[in-house]
Amino acid sequence: MKTKKNNEEKKKISLALQIFIALVLGIIAGLILQGNAEFTIKYIKPFGTIFLNLVKFIVGPIVLFSIMAGILSLKDIKKVGMIGGTTLVYYFCTTAIAITLGLIFGNVFKGFFPSIATADLSYEVSSSSSFMDVIVNIFPSNFLAPISEANMLQVIVMALLLGFSIILLGPKGERAIPTVNLLNDIFMRCMELILKLSPIGVFCLLVPVVAENGASIIGSLAMVLLVAYICYIVHAVVVYSIAVFSIGKINPLKFFKGMLPAIMFAFSSASSVGTLPLNLECTEKLGASKEISSFVLPLGATINMDGTAIYQGVCAIFIASCYGIDLSFSQMITIVLTATLASIGTAGVPGAGMVMLAMVLKSVGLPVDGIALVAGVDRIFDMGRTTLNITGDASCAIVVSSLIGKKKKKVIK
Ligand code: ASP
Repeated sequence: MKTKKNNEEKKKISLALQIFIALVLGIIAGLILQGNAEFTIKYIKPFGTIFLNLVKFIVGPIVLFSIMAGILSLKDIKKVGMIGGTTLVYYFCTTAIAITLGLIFGNVFKGFFPSIATADLSYEVSSSSSFMDVIVNIFPSNFLAPISEANMLQVIVMALLLGFSIILLGPKGERAIPTVNLLNDIFMRCMELILKLSPIGVFCLLVPVVAENGASIIGSLAMVLLVAYICYIVHAVVVYSIAVFSIGKINPLKFFKGMLPAIMFAFSSASSVGTLPLNLECTEKLGASKEISSFVLPLGATINMDGTAIYQGVCAIFIASCYGIDLSFSQMITIVLTATLASIGTAGVPGAGMVMLAMVLKSVGLPVDGIALVAGVDRIFDMGRTTLNITGDASCAIVVSSLIGKKKKKVIK
Protein backbone atom coordinates (compact mmCIF):
# COMPACT_ATOMS: atom_id res chain seq x y z
CA MET A 1 0.00 0.00 0.00
CA LYS A 2 2.73 2.40 1.11
CA THR A 3 4.98 1.71 -1.87
CA LYS A 4 2.02 2.27 -4.20
CA LYS A 5 1.45 5.61 -2.52
CA ASN A 6 5.13 6.49 -2.80
CA ASN A 7 5.11 5.61 -6.46
CA GLU A 8 2.07 7.78 -7.03
CA GLU A 9 3.76 10.59 -5.15
CA LYS A 10 6.82 10.23 -7.38
CA LYS A 11 4.65 10.27 -10.49
CA LYS A 12 2.97 13.49 -9.38
CA ILE A 13 6.27 15.16 -8.60
CA SER A 14 7.54 14.16 -12.00
CA LEU A 15 4.47 15.71 -13.66
CA ALA A 16 5.24 18.98 -11.86
CA LEU A 17 8.83 18.75 -13.04
CA GLN A 18 7.71 17.94 -16.57
CA ILE A 19 5.48 21.01 -16.59
CA PHE A 20 8.36 23.12 -15.31
CA ILE A 21 10.70 21.84 -18.02
CA ALA A 22 8.00 22.48 -20.63
CA LEU A 23 7.61 26.03 -19.32
CA VAL A 24 11.33 26.76 -19.54
CA LEU A 25 11.65 25.13 -22.97
CA GLY A 26 8.55 27.03 -24.14
CA ILE A 27 10.10 30.36 -23.16
CA ILE A 28 13.44 29.50 -24.78
CA ALA A 29 11.81 28.22 -27.99
CA GLY A 30 9.55 31.29 -28.07
CA LEU A 31 12.52 33.64 -27.77
CA ILE A 32 14.38 31.78 -30.52
CA LEU A 33 11.33 31.89 -32.79
CA GLN A 34 10.62 35.59 -32.22
CA GLY A 35 10.92 36.48 -35.85
CA ASN A 36 8.62 33.62 -36.80
CA ALA A 37 5.56 34.38 -34.69
CA GLU A 38 3.26 33.49 -37.58
CA PHE A 39 4.80 30.03 -37.89
CA THR A 40 4.29 29.37 -34.16
CA ILE A 41 0.68 30.56 -34.31
CA LYS A 42 -0.03 28.37 -37.32
CA TYR A 43 1.75 25.18 -36.33
CA ILE A 44 2.43 25.14 -32.59
CA LYS A 45 -0.54 26.94 -31.06
CA PRO A 46 -3.10 24.44 -32.49
CA PHE A 47 -1.64 21.69 -30.28
CA GLY A 48 -2.05 23.94 -27.27
CA THR A 49 -5.62 24.59 -28.38
CA ILE A 50 -6.30 20.86 -28.68
CA PHE A 51 -5.11 20.39 -25.13
CA LEU A 52 -7.19 23.31 -23.83
CA ASN A 53 -10.21 21.94 -25.67
CA LEU A 54 -9.79 18.59 -23.92
CA VAL A 55 -9.57 20.39 -20.59
CA LYS A 56 -12.72 22.37 -21.40
CA PHE A 57 -14.45 19.13 -22.38
CA ILE A 58 -13.77 17.58 -19.00
CA VAL A 59 -14.22 20.61 -16.75
CA GLY A 60 -18.06 20.80 -16.95
CA PRO A 61 -18.78 17.18 -15.92
CA ILE A 62 -15.98 17.31 -13.32
CA VAL A 63 -17.52 20.32 -11.60
CA LEU A 64 -21.07 18.97 -11.88
CA PHE A 65 -20.35 15.53 -10.43
CA SER A 66 -17.72 16.51 -7.90
CA ILE A 67 -19.98 19.16 -6.37
CA MET A 68 -22.92 16.73 -6.36
CA ALA A 69 -20.76 14.01 -4.78
CA GLY A 70 -19.51 16.57 -2.25
CA ILE A 71 -23.04 17.63 -1.27
CA LEU A 72 -24.17 14.03 -1.00
CA SER A 73 -21.27 13.11 1.26
CA LEU A 74 -21.94 16.13 3.48
CA LYS A 75 -25.65 15.14 3.58
CA ASP A 76 -26.43 18.51 5.08
CA ILE A 77 -27.86 21.50 3.24
CA LYS A 78 -26.99 23.84 6.13
CA LYS A 79 -23.36 22.84 6.01
CA VAL A 80 -23.19 23.51 2.29
CA GLY A 81 -24.59 26.96 3.07
CA MET A 82 -21.92 27.46 5.71
CA ILE A 83 -19.15 26.51 3.27
CA GLY A 84 -20.66 28.81 0.62
CA GLY A 85 -20.96 31.73 3.07
CA THR A 86 -17.39 31.37 4.38
CA THR A 87 -16.06 31.09 0.82
CA LEU A 88 -17.87 34.22 -0.35
CA VAL A 89 -16.62 36.26 2.62
CA TYR A 90 -13.04 35.12 1.95
CA TYR A 91 -13.30 35.89 -1.76
CA PHE A 92 -14.76 39.36 -1.26
CA CYS A 93 -12.23 40.33 1.40
CA THR A 94 -9.16 39.14 -0.52
CA THR A 95 -10.35 40.78 -3.73
CA ALA A 96 -10.98 44.08 -1.95
CA ILE A 97 -7.44 43.89 -0.47
CA ALA A 98 -6.05 43.08 -3.94
CA ILE A 99 -7.62 46.07 -5.67
CA THR A 100 -6.58 48.36 -2.81
CA LEU A 101 -3.00 47.10 -3.19
CA GLY A 102 -3.18 47.66 -6.95
CA LEU A 103 -4.29 51.27 -6.41
CA ILE A 104 -1.64 51.94 -3.75
CA PHE A 105 1.19 50.51 -5.88
CA GLY A 106 -0.15 52.26 -8.98
CA ASN A 107 -0.12 55.61 -7.16
CA VAL A 108 3.29 55.09 -5.61
CA PHE A 109 4.94 54.17 -8.92
CA LYS A 110 2.84 56.51 -11.08
CA GLY A 111 5.86 58.74 -11.60
CA PHE A 112 7.69 55.92 -13.40
CA PHE A 113 4.87 55.15 -15.83
CA PRO A 114 5.46 56.23 -19.42
CA SER A 115 3.22 58.97 -20.70
CA ILE A 116 1.77 57.92 -24.01
CA ALA A 117 -0.17 60.19 -26.36
CA THR A 118 -3.87 59.46 -26.17
CA ALA A 119 -5.27 61.56 -29.02
CA ASP A 120 -5.62 58.75 -31.58
CA LEU A 121 -6.69 55.98 -29.28
CA SER A 122 -9.84 54.02 -29.84
CA TYR A 123 -11.13 50.88 -28.20
CA GLU A 124 -14.37 49.20 -29.04
CA VAL A 125 -16.12 48.01 -25.90
CA SER A 126 -17.39 44.51 -26.56
CA SER A 127 -20.77 44.26 -24.86
CA SER A 128 -19.54 44.58 -21.28
CA SER A 129 -22.64 43.40 -19.45
CA SER A 130 -24.27 45.24 -16.58
CA PHE A 131 -24.13 43.94 -13.04
CA MET A 132 -27.76 42.77 -13.20
CA ASP A 133 -27.01 40.79 -16.39
CA VAL A 134 -24.24 39.06 -14.49
CA ILE A 135 -26.70 38.06 -11.74
CA VAL A 136 -29.32 36.83 -14.25
CA ASN A 137 -26.68 34.79 -16.07
CA ILE A 138 -25.87 32.79 -12.96
CA PHE A 139 -29.08 30.81 -13.43
CA PRO A 140 -29.32 28.25 -16.22
CA SER A 141 -32.31 28.24 -18.55
CA ASN A 142 -31.40 24.97 -20.15
CA PHE A 143 -30.22 21.61 -18.82
CA LEU A 144 -27.34 21.11 -21.27
CA ALA A 145 -26.10 24.62 -22.04
CA PRO A 146 -24.16 25.14 -18.78
CA ILE A 147 -22.05 22.06 -19.54
CA SER A 148 -21.72 22.68 -23.27
CA GLU A 149 -20.71 26.29 -22.71
CA ALA A 150 -18.54 25.44 -19.66
CA ASN A 151 -20.40 28.16 -17.75
CA MET A 152 -19.14 27.37 -14.26
CA LEU A 153 -21.58 29.45 -12.23
CA GLN A 154 -24.52 27.80 -14.00
CA VAL A 155 -22.98 24.35 -13.53
CA ILE A 156 -22.62 25.10 -9.80
CA VAL A 157 -26.27 26.14 -9.53
CA MET A 158 -27.29 22.99 -11.40
CA ALA A 159 -25.15 20.77 -9.17
CA LEU A 160 -26.55 22.39 -6.02
CA LEU A 161 -30.16 21.96 -7.16
CA LEU A 162 -29.68 18.33 -8.21
CA GLY A 163 -27.62 17.47 -5.12
CA PHE A 164 -30.17 19.02 -2.75
CA SER A 165 -33.00 17.26 -4.59
CA ILE A 166 -31.35 13.88 -4.06
CA ILE A 167 -30.94 14.63 -0.34
CA LEU A 168 -34.56 15.81 -0.08
CA LEU A 169 -35.78 12.59 -1.70
CA GLY A 170 -34.63 10.77 1.45
CA PRO A 171 -34.09 6.97 1.33
CA LYS A 172 -35.27 6.85 -2.28
CA GLY A 173 -32.66 9.41 -3.28
CA GLU A 174 -29.92 7.43 -1.57
CA ARG A 175 -30.06 4.96 -4.44
CA ALA A 176 -28.66 7.65 -6.71
CA ILE A 177 -25.56 8.21 -4.55
CA PRO A 178 -23.42 5.28 -5.86
CA THR A 179 -24.20 6.34 -9.44
CA VAL A 180 -23.17 9.93 -8.82
CA ASN A 181 -19.98 8.73 -7.10
CA LEU A 182 -19.23 6.35 -9.96
CA LEU A 183 -19.71 9.07 -12.58
CA ASN A 184 -17.49 11.35 -10.49
CA ASP A 185 -14.77 8.67 -10.41
CA ILE A 186 -15.01 8.08 -14.17
CA PHE A 187 -14.62 11.76 -15.03
CA MET A 188 -11.83 12.19 -12.48
CA ARG A 189 -9.93 9.30 -14.07
CA CYS A 190 -10.49 10.81 -17.50
CA MET A 191 -9.19 14.13 -16.19
CA GLU A 192 -6.02 12.42 -14.95
CA LEU A 193 -5.46 11.02 -18.43
CA ILE A 194 -5.88 14.45 -20.01
CA LEU A 195 -3.60 16.09 -17.44
CA LYS A 196 -0.77 13.77 -18.43
CA LEU A 197 -0.63 15.84 -21.61
CA SER A 198 -0.24 19.10 -19.72
CA PRO A 199 3.52 19.52 -20.36
CA ILE A 200 2.82 19.42 -24.11
CA GLY A 201 -0.07 21.83 -23.61
CA VAL A 202 2.08 24.24 -21.60
CA PHE A 203 4.84 24.21 -24.21
CA CYS A 204 2.53 24.72 -27.19
CA LEU A 205 0.56 27.49 -25.48
CA LEU A 206 3.63 29.37 -24.37
CA VAL A 207 5.81 29.34 -27.50
CA PRO A 208 3.49 31.50 -29.65
CA VAL A 209 2.87 33.94 -26.79
CA VAL A 210 6.58 34.50 -26.17
CA ALA A 211 7.34 34.62 -29.91
CA GLU A 212 4.64 37.26 -30.36
CA ASN A 213 5.08 39.35 -27.21
CA GLY A 214 8.69 38.76 -26.19
CA ALA A 215 9.94 42.06 -27.54
CA SER A 216 7.09 44.11 -26.14
CA ILE A 217 8.04 43.14 -22.59
CA ILE A 218 11.08 45.32 -23.00
CA GLY A 219 8.91 47.95 -24.66
CA SER A 220 7.36 51.07 -23.24
CA LEU A 221 4.92 49.30 -20.94
CA ALA A 222 7.64 47.43 -19.06
CA MET A 223 7.20 49.61 -15.98
CA VAL A 224 3.43 49.13 -15.82
CA LEU A 225 3.86 45.38 -16.23
CA LEU A 226 6.54 45.33 -13.56
CA VAL A 227 4.33 47.19 -11.07
CA ALA A 228 1.46 44.77 -11.73
CA TYR A 229 3.74 41.75 -11.28
CA ILE A 230 5.28 43.15 -8.07
CA CYS A 231 1.77 43.63 -6.78
CA TYR A 232 0.72 40.08 -7.76
CA ILE A 233 3.73 38.71 -5.88
CA VAL A 234 3.24 40.90 -2.79
CA HIS A 235 -0.44 39.91 -2.59
CA ALA A 236 0.38 36.20 -2.86
CA VAL A 237 3.28 36.32 -0.44
CA VAL A 238 1.55 38.47 2.17
CA VAL A 239 -2.19 37.76 2.00
CA TYR A 240 -2.21 34.06 1.04
CA SER A 241 0.75 33.19 3.23
CA ILE A 242 -0.93 34.76 6.26
CA ALA A 243 -4.23 33.04 5.44
CA VAL A 244 -2.87 29.54 4.86
CA PHE A 245 -0.48 29.84 7.80
CA SER A 246 -2.78 31.34 10.42
CA ILE A 247 -6.06 29.66 9.48
CA GLY A 248 -5.05 26.77 7.25
CA LYS A 249 -2.13 25.73 9.52
CA ILE A 250 0.08 25.07 6.49
CA ASN A 251 3.60 26.34 6.00
CA PRO A 252 3.32 28.93 3.18
CA LEU A 253 6.41 27.47 1.47
CA LYS A 254 4.77 24.07 1.40
CA PHE A 255 1.63 25.70 0.03
CA PHE A 256 3.39 27.45 -2.86
CA LYS A 257 5.51 24.39 -3.61
CA GLY A 258 2.44 22.17 -3.71
CA MET A 259 0.72 24.66 -5.98
CA LEU A 260 3.57 24.81 -8.52
CA PRO A 261 2.01 22.56 -11.20
CA ALA A 262 -1.23 24.60 -11.17
CA ILE A 263 0.70 27.88 -11.01
CA MET A 264 2.80 26.99 -14.05
CA PHE A 265 -0.23 25.81 -15.94
CA ALA A 266 -2.21 28.96 -15.16
CA PHE A 267 0.76 31.08 -16.22
CA SER A 268 0.95 29.39 -19.62
CA SER A 269 -2.77 29.02 -20.32
CA ALA A 270 -4.12 32.29 -18.82
CA SER A 271 -7.32 30.45 -17.97
CA SER A 272 -8.58 29.83 -14.42
CA VAL A 273 -11.27 27.49 -15.70
CA GLY A 274 -8.71 25.54 -17.72
CA THR A 275 -6.49 25.23 -14.63
CA LEU A 276 -9.35 23.92 -12.52
CA PRO A 277 -8.60 20.18 -12.86
CA LEU A 278 -4.95 20.66 -11.92
CA ASN A 279 -5.89 23.01 -9.08
CA LEU A 280 -8.25 20.36 -7.67
CA GLU A 281 -5.36 17.88 -7.66
CA CYS A 282 -2.89 20.27 -6.04
CA THR A 283 -5.21 21.42 -3.24
CA GLU A 284 -6.21 17.89 -2.46
CA LYS A 285 -2.56 16.92 -2.20
CA LEU A 286 -2.08 19.85 0.17
CA GLY A 287 -4.71 18.40 2.46
CA ALA A 288 -7.84 20.38 1.53
CA SER A 289 -11.04 18.42 1.86
CA LYS A 290 -12.21 17.07 -1.49
CA GLU A 291 -15.85 18.00 -0.86
CA ILE A 292 -14.85 21.53 -0.03
CA SER A 293 -12.36 22.15 -2.84
CA SER A 294 -14.74 20.72 -5.42
CA PHE A 295 -17.14 23.48 -4.43
CA VAL A 296 -14.75 26.31 -3.57
CA LEU A 297 -12.45 26.05 -6.62
CA PRO A 298 -15.02 26.09 -9.46
CA LEU A 299 -16.75 28.98 -7.70
CA GLY A 300 -13.43 30.78 -7.35
CA ALA A 301 -12.48 30.14 -10.97
CA THR A 302 -15.50 32.22 -11.94
CA ILE A 303 -15.95 34.82 -9.24
CA ASN A 304 -12.64 35.22 -7.40
CA MET A 305 -10.12 37.23 -9.40
CA ASP A 306 -7.57 38.93 -7.17
CA GLY A 307 -5.03 39.18 -9.99
CA THR A 308 -7.61 40.71 -12.30
CA ALA A 309 -8.54 43.23 -9.60
CA ILE A 310 -4.89 44.27 -9.17
CA TYR A 311 -4.48 44.60 -12.92
CA GLN A 312 -7.57 46.79 -13.11
CA GLY A 313 -6.31 49.03 -10.33
CA VAL A 314 -2.83 49.48 -11.82
CA CYS A 315 -4.22 50.02 -15.35
CA ALA A 316 -6.83 52.52 -14.16
CA ILE A 317 -4.06 54.61 -12.59
CA PHE A 318 -1.85 54.28 -15.67
CA ILE A 319 -4.63 55.18 -18.11
CA ALA A 320 -5.68 58.12 -15.93
CA SER A 321 -2.10 59.39 -15.84
CA CYS A 322 -1.77 59.17 -19.64
CA TYR A 323 -4.90 61.33 -19.95
CA GLY A 324 -3.48 63.69 -17.34
CA ILE A 325 -6.29 62.91 -14.89
CA ASP A 326 -5.70 62.67 -11.15
CA LEU A 327 -8.11 60.28 -9.46
CA SER A 328 -9.72 61.56 -6.26
CA PHE A 329 -10.04 59.46 -3.11
CA SER A 330 -13.75 58.88 -3.68
CA GLN A 331 -13.04 57.73 -7.23
CA MET A 332 -10.55 55.23 -5.82
CA ILE A 333 -13.21 53.89 -3.45
CA THR A 334 -15.55 53.55 -6.44
CA ILE A 335 -12.84 51.57 -8.24
CA VAL A 336 -12.45 49.25 -5.23
CA LEU A 337 -16.19 48.55 -5.28
CA THR A 338 -16.60 48.15 -9.03
CA ALA A 339 -13.47 46.05 -9.48
CA THR A 340 -14.61 43.72 -6.70
CA LEU A 341 -17.98 43.36 -8.44
CA ALA A 342 -16.34 43.12 -11.88
CA SER A 343 -14.50 40.07 -10.54
CA ILE A 344 -17.78 38.21 -10.36
CA GLY A 345 -18.54 38.97 -13.97
CA THR A 346 -15.09 38.08 -15.27
CA ALA A 347 -15.06 34.65 -16.87
CA GLY A 348 -12.03 32.47 -16.14
CA VAL A 349 -10.81 32.57 -19.73
CA PRO A 350 -7.96 34.46 -21.42
CA GLY A 351 -8.56 38.16 -21.89
CA ALA A 352 -11.82 38.41 -19.91
CA GLY A 353 -10.33 40.82 -17.38
CA MET A 354 -9.59 43.39 -20.06
CA VAL A 355 -13.23 43.44 -21.15
CA MET A 356 -14.29 44.09 -17.56
CA LEU A 357 -11.73 46.89 -17.27
CA ALA A 358 -14.19 48.91 -19.36
CA MET A 359 -16.74 48.66 -16.53
CA VAL A 360 -14.19 49.90 -13.99
CA LEU A 361 -13.04 52.82 -16.15
CA LYS A 362 -16.61 53.86 -16.89
CA SER A 363 -17.52 53.86 -13.20
CA VAL A 364 -15.13 56.75 -12.58
CA GLY A 365 -15.60 58.50 -15.90
CA LEU A 366 -12.23 57.53 -17.38
CA PRO A 367 -12.15 57.18 -21.20
CA VAL A 368 -12.68 53.55 -22.21
CA ASP A 369 -10.48 54.18 -25.27
CA GLY A 370 -7.57 54.08 -22.83
CA ILE A 371 -7.79 50.29 -22.85
CA ALA A 372 -6.04 50.46 -26.23
CA LEU A 373 -2.93 51.57 -24.29
CA VAL A 374 -2.62 48.23 -22.54
CA ALA A 375 -4.39 45.89 -24.99
CA GLY A 376 -1.20 45.02 -26.90
CA VAL A 377 0.40 43.34 -23.92
CA ASP A 378 -2.75 42.09 -22.27
CA ARG A 379 -1.63 38.49 -22.51
CA ILE A 380 1.42 39.22 -20.38
CA PHE A 381 -0.71 40.91 -17.71
CA ASP A 382 -3.13 38.01 -18.04
CA MET A 383 -0.57 35.27 -17.38
CA GLY A 384 0.30 36.82 -14.03
CA ARG A 385 -3.22 37.71 -13.00
CA THR A 386 -4.53 34.23 -13.80
CA THR A 387 -1.73 32.71 -11.72
CA LEU A 388 -2.74 34.88 -8.79
CA ASN A 389 -6.43 34.16 -9.37
CA ILE A 390 -6.06 30.40 -9.05
CA THR A 391 -3.62 30.63 -6.13
CA GLY A 392 -6.24 32.71 -4.30
CA ASP A 393 -8.87 30.05 -4.98
CA ALA A 394 -6.57 27.35 -3.63
CA SER A 395 -5.77 29.34 -0.49
CA CYS A 396 -9.51 29.62 0.12
CA ALA A 397 -9.95 25.84 -0.25
CA ILE A 398 -7.26 25.33 2.41
CA VAL A 399 -8.71 27.98 4.74
CA VAL A 400 -12.33 26.81 4.45
CA SER A 401 -11.30 23.14 4.87
CA SER A 402 -9.52 24.07 8.06
CA LEU A 403 -12.33 26.29 9.37
CA ILE A 404 -15.16 23.88 8.67
CA GLY A 405 -13.04 21.00 9.98
CA LYS A 406 -12.64 22.86 13.27
CA LYS A 407 -16.31 23.62 13.42
CA LYS A 408 -17.04 19.96 12.90
CA LYS A 409 -14.83 19.06 15.89
CA LYS A 410 -16.59 21.61 18.05
CA VAL A 411 -19.99 20.15 17.15
CA ILE A 412 -18.81 16.65 18.05
CA LYS A 413 -17.58 17.87 21.46
N1 ASP B 1 -7.65 35.07 -17.64
C1 ASP B 1 -8.14 35.34 -16.30
C2 ASP B 1 -8.53 34.05 -15.63
O1 ASP B 1 -8.81 33.07 -16.29
C3 ASP B 1 -9.29 36.28 -16.29
C4 ASP B 1 -8.80 37.64 -16.75
O2 ASP B 1 -8.70 37.85 -17.94
O3 ASP B 1 -8.51 38.47 -15.88
O4 ASP B 1 -8.56 33.99 -14.42
